[in-house]
Amino acid sequence: MGYLISALAALVVCAVLLVMFGPAVVLTAGLGGLVAGTTLLAVVRCRHPHPALHPPTVDFQGRRHPPHWYCDDCGRTWEAVFNHDAVPVQRFTGYDQSKAVDAARRADLVERELRRLAASRSGLIPSRSEPAAAVPISSRRVAR
Ligand SMILES: [Zn+2]
Repeated sequence: MGYLISALAALVVCAVLLVMFGPAVVLTAGLGGLVAGTTLLAVVRCRHPHPALHPPTVDFQGRRHPPHWYCDDCGRTWEAVFNHDAVPVQRFTGYDQSKAVDAARRADLVERELRRLAASRSGLIPSRSEPAAAVPISSRRVAR
């Protein structure tokens, strides 16, 4: 859209120059403007300041599309290349049977506590705690 407005503005400037100075000046100014515009376009081209990362997707035909970057300023997309060379470091192998016994005991304890809480919430087991004593709201606290 910006290019269209720039082209229309250049056309208007050329028409005004044609009326004011004649065809030789317009031809010279047009060539100069073309060179200047091309140079300016090469310098001011989008550098993708805030690209957005789109996740991998599968289209309606079942084809997988890899993750890609998208620039909202210029509309360009390019594939996102990630470094998959890094392999997780495995620090422990095997298992310790002495820890398995403790883990099983803790899991059994947690399961029993969950069952007790569920039964208590359902009302099958009366709660152990006594209800708190009622405090009259009419008594006022004396400020010191
Ligand atoms: Zn861009």
